[in-house]
Amino acid sequence: MFDVHAIRKEFPILSREVNGYSLVYLDNAATSQKPQQVIDAIVDYYSNYNANIHRGVHSLSQEATDAYEAARKKIQAHFSVKHSHEVILTPGTTHGINLVANGFSSLLKEGDEIIVSALEHHSNIVPWQMLCERTGAILKVIPIDEDGVLKMDAFDTLLSKKTKLVFVNHISNALGTINPIKYIIDEAHKYDAAVLIDGAQACSHIKPNLAALDCDFYVTSAHKMCGPTGVGMLYGKEEWLEKLPPYQGGGEMIAEVSFEKTTYAGLPHKFEAGTPNICGGIAFGVAIDYLNNIGFDAIAAHEEKLLKYATKKLLAIDGLKIYGTGTQKTSVISFNIEGIHPYDIGTIVDKLGIAVRTGHHCAQPIMNFFNIPGTVRASFAFYNTMEEVDKLVSAVERAKMMLQ
Ligand code: PMP
Repeated sequence: MFDVHAIRKEFPILSREVNGYSLVYLDNAATSQKPQQVIDAIVDYYSNYNANIHRGVHSLSQEATDAYEAARKKIQAHFSVKHSHEVILTPGTTHGINLVANGFSSLLKEGDEIIVSALEHHSNIVPWQMLCERTGAILKVIPIDEDGVLKMDAFDTLLSKKTKLVFVNHISNALGTINPIKYIIDEAHKYDAAVLIDGAQACSHIKPNLAALDCDFYVTSAHKMCGPTGVGMLYGKEEWLEKLPPYQGGGEMIAEVSFEKTTYAGLPHKFEAGTPNICGGIAFGVAIDYLNNIGFDAIAAHEEKLLKYATKKLLAIDGLKIYGTGTQKTSVISFNIEGIHPYDIGTIVDKLGIAVRTGHHCAQPIMNFFNIPGTVRASFAFYNTMEEVDKLVSAVERAKMMLQ
Protein backbone atom coordinates (compact mmCIF):
# COMPACT_ATOMS: atom_id res chain seq x y z
CA MET A 1 0.00 0.00 0.00
CA PHE A 2 1.37 3.39 -1.03
CA ASP A 3 1.13 5.66 2.02
CA VAL A 4 2.56 9.09 1.25
CA HIS A 5 2.44 10.22 4.89
CA ALA A 6 4.42 7.19 6.06
CA ILE A 7 6.91 7.76 3.24
CA ARG A 8 7.35 11.42 4.20
CA LYS A 9 8.39 10.40 7.71
CA GLU A 10 11.41 8.64 6.18
CA PHE A 11 12.75 11.96 4.83
CA PRO A 12 14.03 14.03 7.78
CA ILE A 13 14.25 17.25 5.76
CA LEU A 14 10.55 17.19 4.94
CA SER A 15 9.66 18.00 8.53
CA ARG A 16 11.68 21.21 8.67
CA GLU A 17 10.40 24.73 8.37
CA VAL A 18 11.53 27.41 5.94
CA ASN A 19 10.75 31.06 6.65
CA GLY A 20 8.36 29.98 9.41
CA TYR A 21 6.34 27.63 7.18
CA SER A 22 6.48 23.85 6.74
CA LEU A 23 8.79 23.18 3.82
CA VAL A 24 7.02 22.38 0.55
CA TYR A 25 9.78 20.99 -1.62
CA LEU A 26 8.88 21.20 -5.31
CA ASP A 27 12.35 21.38 -6.84
CA ASN A 28 12.77 17.65 -7.30
CA ALA A 29 13.94 17.96 -10.89
CA ALA A 30 17.00 19.83 -9.58
CA THR A 31 17.70 17.24 -6.91
CA SER A 32 15.64 14.84 -4.83
CA GLN A 33 15.55 14.65 -1.05
CA LYS A 34 17.17 11.69 0.72
CA PRO A 35 15.49 9.08 2.92
CA GLN A 36 16.96 8.09 6.28
CA GLN A 37 18.17 4.76 4.82
CA VAL A 38 20.46 6.57 2.37
CA ILE A 39 21.72 8.98 5.03
CA ASP A 40 22.37 6.01 7.36
CA ALA A 41 24.35 4.18 4.66
CA ILE A 42 26.68 7.18 4.32
CA VAL A 43 27.16 7.49 8.09
CA ASP A 44 27.66 3.72 8.38
CA TYR A 45 30.41 3.71 5.74
CA TYR A 46 32.39 6.54 7.36
CA SER A 47 31.73 5.25 10.89
CA ASN A 48 32.49 1.59 10.35
CA TYR A 49 34.36 0.58 7.21
CA ASN A 50 35.90 3.63 5.54
CA ALA A 51 38.86 2.41 3.43
CA ASN A 52 40.12 2.72 -0.10
CA ILE A 53 38.86 0.04 -2.47
CA HIS A 54 40.29 -2.41 -5.01
CA ARG A 55 43.81 -2.13 -3.62
CA GLY A 56 44.12 -3.22 -0.02
CA VAL A 57 44.41 -6.77 1.23
CA HIS A 58 43.27 -5.65 4.66
CA SER A 59 39.76 -6.46 5.88
CA LEU A 60 38.36 -2.93 5.85
CA SER A 61 39.41 -2.43 2.25
CA GLN A 62 37.85 -5.76 1.35
CA GLU A 63 34.58 -4.84 3.07
CA ALA A 64 34.42 -1.49 1.31
CA THR A 65 35.28 -3.09 -2.06
CA ASP A 66 32.58 -5.73 -1.60
CA ALA A 67 29.96 -3.10 -0.73
CA TYR A 68 30.96 -0.90 -3.69
CA GLU A 69 30.92 -3.77 -6.16
CA ALA A 70 27.61 -5.03 -4.73
CA ALA A 71 26.19 -1.56 -5.49
CA ARG A 72 27.41 -1.84 -9.08
CA LYS A 73 25.58 -5.18 -9.37
CA LYS A 74 22.41 -3.60 -7.94
CA ILE A 75 22.62 -0.83 -10.52
CA GLN A 76 23.21 -3.42 -13.24
CA ALA A 77 20.11 -5.38 -12.21
CA HIS A 78 17.96 -2.28 -11.79
CA PHE A 79 18.69 -1.04 -15.31
CA SER A 80 18.63 -4.54 -16.89
CA VAL A 81 22.24 -4.30 -18.06
CA LYS A 82 23.81 -7.49 -19.46
CA HIS A 83 27.31 -7.23 -17.91
CA SER A 84 28.31 -5.48 -14.70
CA HIS A 85 31.44 -4.14 -16.44
CA GLU A 86 29.13 -2.13 -18.72
CA VAL A 87 28.18 -0.08 -15.65
CA ILE A 88 30.72 2.73 -15.17
CA LEU A 89 30.37 4.59 -11.89
CA THR A 90 30.92 8.29 -12.59
CA PRO A 91 30.55 11.55 -10.66
CA GLY A 92 27.23 12.08 -12.48
CA THR A 93 25.42 12.67 -15.76
CA THR A 94 27.59 15.57 -16.88
CA HIS A 95 30.76 13.53 -16.38
CA GLY A 96 29.30 10.55 -18.26
CA ILE A 97 28.37 12.70 -21.27
CA ASN A 98 31.80 14.34 -21.35
CA LEU A 99 33.48 10.95 -21.11
CA VAL A 100 31.64 9.75 -24.22
CA ALA A 101 32.09 13.06 -26.09
CA ASN A 102 35.80 13.01 -25.37
CA GLY A 103 36.07 9.39 -26.51
CA PHE A 104 34.45 10.14 -29.85
CA SER A 105 37.10 12.78 -30.65
CA SER A 106 39.23 10.05 -32.18
CA LEU A 107 36.32 8.30 -33.93
CA LEU A 108 34.77 11.22 -35.85
CA LYS A 109 35.98 13.07 -38.92
CA GLU A 110 35.12 16.34 -40.59
CA GLY A 111 31.63 16.39 -42.05
CA ASP A 112 30.25 13.61 -39.82
CA GLU A 113 26.94 14.60 -38.26
CA ILE A 114 25.71 14.56 -34.68
CA ILE A 115 22.01 14.95 -33.89
CA VAL A 116 20.81 16.43 -30.59
CA SER A 117 17.35 17.60 -29.65
CA ALA A 118 16.06 21.09 -28.98
CA LEU A 119 14.92 19.86 -25.56
CA GLU A 120 18.38 19.23 -24.15
CA HIS A 121 19.96 20.36 -20.89
CA HIS A 122 23.14 22.38 -21.49
CA SER A 123 25.16 19.37 -20.36
CA ASN A 124 23.83 17.46 -23.38
CA ILE A 125 24.61 20.32 -25.78
CA VAL A 126 27.92 21.91 -24.85
CA PRO A 127 30.10 18.72 -24.80
CA TRP A 128 28.88 17.89 -28.33
CA GLN A 129 29.60 21.43 -29.53
CA MET A 130 33.11 21.05 -28.11
CA LEU A 131 33.38 17.69 -29.87
CA CYS A 132 32.33 19.35 -33.16
CA GLU A 133 35.00 22.03 -32.67
CA ARG A 134 37.65 19.35 -32.16
CA THR A 135 36.64 17.14 -35.07
CA GLY A 136 34.86 19.30 -37.67
CA ALA A 137 31.66 17.29 -37.16
CA ILE A 138 28.36 19.13 -37.62
CA LEU A 139 25.62 19.46 -35.00
CA LYS A 140 22.00 19.07 -36.20
CA VAL A 141 19.00 19.77 -33.99
CA ILE A 142 15.62 17.98 -33.80
CA PRO A 143 13.13 20.85 -33.45
CA ILE A 144 10.13 21.00 -31.09
CA ASP A 145 6.54 22.10 -31.60
CA GLU A 146 4.45 24.52 -29.51
CA ASP A 147 3.63 21.72 -27.04
CA GLY A 148 7.33 21.19 -26.36
CA VAL A 149 7.29 17.85 -28.18
CA LEU A 150 10.04 16.69 -30.54
CA LYS A 151 9.10 16.70 -34.21
CA MET A 152 9.78 13.15 -35.28
CA ASP A 153 9.19 13.82 -38.97
CA ALA A 154 12.05 16.35 -38.80
CA PHE A 155 14.21 13.75 -37.05
CA ASP A 156 13.55 11.30 -39.88
CA THR A 157 14.80 13.82 -42.44
CA LEU A 158 17.90 14.70 -40.38
CA LEU A 159 19.05 11.08 -40.28
CA SER A 160 21.45 10.06 -43.03
CA LYS A 161 24.56 8.01 -43.72
CA LYS A 162 26.53 10.94 -42.30
CA THR A 163 24.85 10.61 -38.87
CA LYS A 164 27.31 9.07 -36.43
CA LEU A 165 25.77 9.96 -33.08
CA VAL A 166 22.36 10.87 -31.68
CA PHE A 167 21.90 12.41 -28.21
CA VAL A 168 18.52 12.89 -26.65
CA ASN A 169 17.26 13.12 -23.12
CA HIS A 170 14.76 10.56 -21.92
CA ILE A 171 12.72 13.26 -20.17
CA SER A 172 13.16 17.02 -20.46
CA ASN A 173 14.12 18.71 -17.19
CA ALA A 174 12.63 22.03 -18.27
CA LEU A 175 9.21 20.83 -19.49
CA GLY A 176 8.81 17.23 -18.31
CA THR A 177 8.21 15.95 -21.86
CA ILE A 178 8.89 12.21 -22.23
CA ASN A 179 10.70 11.69 -25.52
CA PRO A 180 10.03 8.76 -27.90
CA ILE A 181 13.48 7.32 -27.28
CA LYS A 182 12.73 3.79 -28.49
CA TYR A 183 11.76 5.14 -31.91
CA ILE A 184 14.85 7.39 -31.96
CA ILE A 185 17.17 4.51 -31.02
CA ASP A 186 15.70 2.12 -33.60
CA GLU A 187 15.75 4.66 -36.43
CA ALA A 188 19.31 5.81 -35.63
CA HIS A 189 20.50 2.21 -35.61
CA LYS A 190 19.24 1.77 -39.18
CA TYR A 191 22.07 4.20 -40.08
CA ASP A 192 24.57 2.59 -37.66
CA ALA A 193 24.61 5.74 -35.54
CA ALA A 194 25.32 5.36 -31.81
CA VAL A 195 22.67 6.70 -29.43
CA LEU A 196 23.25 8.24 -26.01
CA ILE A 197 20.23 8.79 -23.79
CA ASP A 198 20.47 11.34 -20.98
CA GLY A 199 18.37 9.76 -18.25
CA ALA A 200 19.01 12.34 -15.53
CA GLN A 201 15.33 13.26 -15.31
CA ALA A 202 13.86 9.88 -16.03
CA CYS A 203 15.20 7.54 -13.39
CA SER A 204 13.27 8.96 -10.44
CA HIS A 205 10.00 8.37 -12.31
CA ILE A 206 10.52 5.20 -14.32
CA LYS A 207 12.73 2.14 -14.39
CA PRO A 208 14.43 2.01 -17.79
CA ASN A 209 15.06 -1.43 -19.23
CA LEU A 210 18.31 -0.83 -21.11
CA ALA A 211 18.40 -4.29 -22.66
CA ALA A 212 15.00 -3.69 -24.26
CA LEU A 213 15.79 -0.08 -25.22
CA ASP A 214 19.02 -1.19 -26.93
CA CYS A 215 20.63 2.28 -26.60
CA ASP A 216 24.43 2.44 -26.86
CA PHE A 217 24.91 4.70 -23.84
CA TYR A 218 22.65 5.77 -20.98
CA VAL A 219 23.68 8.28 -18.31
CA THR A 220 22.11 9.31 -15.04
CA SER A 221 22.83 10.86 -11.63
CA ALA A 222 22.10 9.28 -8.25
CA HIS A 223 21.11 12.58 -6.65
CA LYS A 224 17.94 12.77 -8.75
CA MET A 225 16.96 9.30 -7.43
CA CYS A 226 17.11 9.83 -3.65
CA GLY A 227 20.85 9.06 -3.69
CA PRO A 228 23.79 11.36 -2.90
CA THR A 229 25.39 13.98 -5.13
CA GLY A 230 28.69 13.29 -6.88
CA VAL A 231 27.88 9.83 -8.19
CA GLY A 232 26.09 8.48 -11.23
CA MET A 233 26.06 5.82 -13.89
CA LEU A 234 27.32 5.64 -17.42
CA TYR A 235 26.03 2.54 -19.15
CA GLY A 236 27.80 1.70 -22.38
CA LYS A 237 27.52 -1.34 -24.61
CA GLU A 238 30.65 -3.42 -24.20
CA GLU A 239 31.72 -2.99 -27.83
CA TRP A 240 31.52 0.80 -27.57
CA LEU A 241 33.33 0.96 -24.21
CA GLU A 242 36.08 -1.20 -25.68
CA LYS A 243 36.37 1.13 -28.67
CA LEU A 244 36.47 4.42 -26.73
CA PRO A 245 39.83 5.53 -25.31
CA PRO A 246 40.12 6.23 -21.56
CA TYR A 247 38.84 9.63 -20.43
CA GLN A 248 41.21 10.36 -17.55
CA GLY A 249 44.55 8.81 -16.70
CA GLY A 250 45.60 7.85 -13.18
CA GLY A 251 45.46 5.11 -10.62
CA GLU A 252 42.88 2.32 -10.88
CA MET A 253 42.56 2.57 -14.68
CA ILE A 254 45.86 0.92 -15.59
CA ALA A 255 47.11 -2.63 -16.06
CA GLU A 256 50.89 -1.87 -16.16
CA VAL A 257 52.75 1.43 -16.05
CA SER A 258 56.28 2.11 -17.19
CA PHE A 259 57.86 5.20 -18.72
CA GLU A 260 58.08 3.36 -22.03
CA LYS A 261 54.47 2.17 -22.20
CA THR A 262 51.33 2.02 -20.10
CA THR A 263 48.55 -0.49 -20.68
CA TYR A 264 45.02 0.10 -19.50
CA ALA A 265 42.82 -1.90 -17.19
CA GLY A 266 39.79 -3.71 -18.54
CA LEU A 267 36.22 -2.54 -18.12
CA PRO A 268 34.87 -0.92 -16.02
CA HIS A 269 38.13 0.30 -14.42
CA LYS A 270 39.48 1.77 -17.67
CA PHE A 271 36.99 4.63 -17.16
CA GLU A 272 37.27 4.91 -13.37
CA ALA A 273 40.59 6.69 -12.76
CA GLY A 274 41.41 7.68 -9.20
CA THR A 275 39.67 6.97 -5.91
CA PRO A 276 35.95 6.98 -6.65
CA ASN A 277 33.08 8.30 -4.54
CA ILE A 278 33.01 5.08 -2.54
CA CYS A 279 30.29 5.87 -0.05
CA GLY A 280 28.34 7.62 -2.82
CA GLY A 281 28.33 4.43 -4.90
CA ILE A 282 27.25 2.35 -1.92
CA ALA A 283 24.48 4.84 -1.05
CA PHE A 284 23.38 4.90 -4.72
CA GLY A 285 22.68 1.17 -4.36
CA VAL A 286 20.69 1.81 -1.17
CA ALA A 287 18.65 4.51 -2.95
CA ILE A 288 17.83 2.07 -5.74
CA ASP A 289 16.64 -0.50 -3.18
CA TYR A 290 14.57 2.19 -1.51
CA LEU A 291 12.81 3.22 -4.73
CA ASN A 292 12.18 -0.39 -5.73
CA ASN A 293 10.66 -1.13 -2.33
CA ILE A 294 8.10 1.60 -2.95
CA GLY A 295 7.73 0.39 -6.52
CA PHE A 296 7.87 2.38 -9.74
CA ASP A 297 4.22 1.64 -10.60
CA ALA A 298 3.10 3.15 -7.30
CA ILE A 299 5.45 6.11 -7.80
CA ALA A 300 4.11 6.76 -11.31
CA ALA A 301 0.47 6.46 -10.21
CA HIS A 302 0.92 8.96 -7.35
CA GLU A 303 2.90 11.43 -9.46
CA GLU A 304 0.30 11.25 -12.23
CA LYS A 305 -2.39 12.26 -9.72
CA LEU A 306 -0.25 15.17 -8.51
CA LEU A 307 0.43 16.28 -12.08
CA LYS A 308 -3.24 16.20 -13.13
CA TYR A 309 -4.45 17.96 -9.99
CA ALA A 310 -1.76 20.65 -10.07
CA THR A 311 -2.22 21.27 -13.81
CA LYS A 312 -5.97 21.76 -13.40
CA LYS A 313 -5.65 24.06 -10.39
CA LEU A 314 -2.83 26.17 -11.82
CA LEU A 315 -4.59 26.61 -15.17
CA ALA A 316 -7.57 28.08 -13.28
CA ILE A 317 -5.36 31.09 -12.44
CA ASP A 318 -6.07 33.85 -14.91
CA GLY A 319 -3.11 34.61 -17.20
CA LEU A 320 -1.15 31.47 -16.24
CA LYS A 321 0.41 29.58 -19.14
CA ILE A 322 2.02 26.14 -18.92
CA TYR A 323 4.92 25.24 -21.22
CA GLY A 324 5.20 21.57 -22.11
CA THR A 325 1.69 20.50 -22.95
CA GLY A 326 2.29 17.20 -24.73
CA THR A 327 0.40 14.13 -23.62
CA GLN A 328 3.57 12.23 -22.63
CA LYS A 329 5.00 14.01 -19.62
CA THR A 330 6.12 13.49 -16.05
CA SER A 331 5.30 15.49 -12.95
CA VAL A 332 6.98 18.74 -13.97
CA ILE A 333 5.02 21.95 -14.51
CA SER A 334 6.82 24.89 -16.08
CA PHE A 335 4.71 28.04 -16.13
CA ASN A 336 4.56 31.82 -16.28
CA ILE A 337 1.94 34.42 -15.45
CA GLU A 338 1.42 37.11 -18.03
CA GLY A 339 3.30 40.29 -17.19
CA ILE A 340 5.20 38.84 -14.19
CA HIS A 341 8.85 37.77 -14.15
CA PRO A 342 9.26 34.13 -13.01
CA TYR A 343 11.97 35.15 -10.54
CA ASP A 344 9.49 37.41 -8.68
CA ILE A 345 7.00 34.56 -8.30
CA GLY A 346 9.77 32.23 -7.07
CA THR A 347 10.91 34.77 -4.49
CA ILE A 348 7.45 35.31 -3.06
CA VAL A 349 6.52 31.63 -2.86
CA ASP A 350 9.86 30.96 -1.14
CA LYS A 351 8.83 33.40 1.60
CA LEU A 352 5.91 31.01 2.17
CA GLY A 353 8.22 27.99 2.50
CA ILE A 354 7.74 26.69 -1.04
CA ALA A 355 10.82 25.68 -3.04
CA VAL A 356 10.36 25.95 -6.81
CA ARG A 357 12.96 26.60 -9.47
CA THR A 358 12.95 29.75 -11.57
CA GLY A 359 15.03 30.58 -14.62
CA HIS A 360 16.08 28.82 -17.79
CA HIS A 361 16.72 25.45 -16.09
CA CYS A 362 20.02 25.01 -17.98
CA ALA A 363 17.97 24.77 -21.17
CA GLN A 364 18.25 28.20 -22.77
CA PRO A 365 17.38 27.02 -26.32
CA ILE A 366 13.91 25.96 -25.05
CA MET A 367 13.36 29.38 -23.46
CA ASN A 368 14.50 31.04 -26.71
CA PHE A 369 12.01 28.91 -28.65
CA PHE A 370 9.15 30.16 -26.47
CA ASN A 371 10.65 33.66 -26.44
CA ILE A 372 10.67 33.91 -22.65
CA PRO A 373 13.47 34.61 -20.15
CA GLY A 374 12.56 31.56 -18.09
CA THR A 375 9.74 29.85 -16.23
CA VAL A 376 8.66 28.91 -12.74
CA ARG A 377 9.11 25.15 -12.48
CA ALA A 378 7.31 23.02 -9.92
CA SER A 379 8.56 19.43 -10.08
CA PHE A 380 6.81 16.82 -7.96
CA ALA A 381 8.15 13.63 -6.41
CA PHE A 382 6.33 10.63 -4.92
CA TYR A 383 6.64 12.18 -1.44
CA ASN A 384 4.66 15.30 -2.37
CA THR A 385 1.00 15.59 -1.41
CA MET A 386 -2.20 17.10 -2.77
CA GLU A 387 -2.15 19.53 0.18
CA GLU A 388 1.23 20.76 -0.99
CA VAL A 389 -0.24 21.39 -4.45
CA ASP A 390 -2.97 23.46 -2.76
CA LYS A 391 -0.31 25.44 -0.90
CA LEU A 392 1.57 26.10 -4.13
CA VAL A 393 -1.55 27.27 -5.92
CA SER A 394 -2.59 29.68 -3.18
CA ALA A 395 0.99 31.00 -2.90
CA VAL A 396 1.08 31.63 -6.67
CA GLU A 397 -2.30 33.38 -6.45
CA ARG A 398 -0.97 35.54 -3.64
CA ALA A 399 2.19 36.38 -5.62
CA LYS A 400 0.03 37.33 -8.58
CA MET A 401 -2.06 39.68 -6.46
CA MET A 402 1.03 41.34 -5.02
CA LEU A 403 2.85 41.71 -8.34
CA GLN A 404 0.11 42.71 -10.76
N1 PMP B 1 20.60 16.31 -18.07
C1 PMP B 1 19.41 16.61 -17.54
C2 PMP B 1 18.16 16.35 -18.34
C3 PMP B 1 19.33 17.14 -16.24
O1 PMP B 1 18.16 17.45 -15.72
C4 PMP B 1 20.53 17.35 -15.51
C5 PMP B 1 20.49 17.93 -14.11
N2 PMP B 1 19.67 19.03 -13.97
C6 PMP B 1 21.74 17.01 -16.11
C7 PMP B 1 21.74 16.50 -17.38
C8 PMP B 1 23.05 17.19 -15.40
O2 PMP B 1 23.10 16.35 -14.29
P1 PMP B 1 24.28 16.51 -13.21
O3 PMP B 1 24.29 17.97 -12.85
O4 PMP B 1 23.85 15.62 -12.09
O5 PMP B 1 25.53 16.07 -13.86
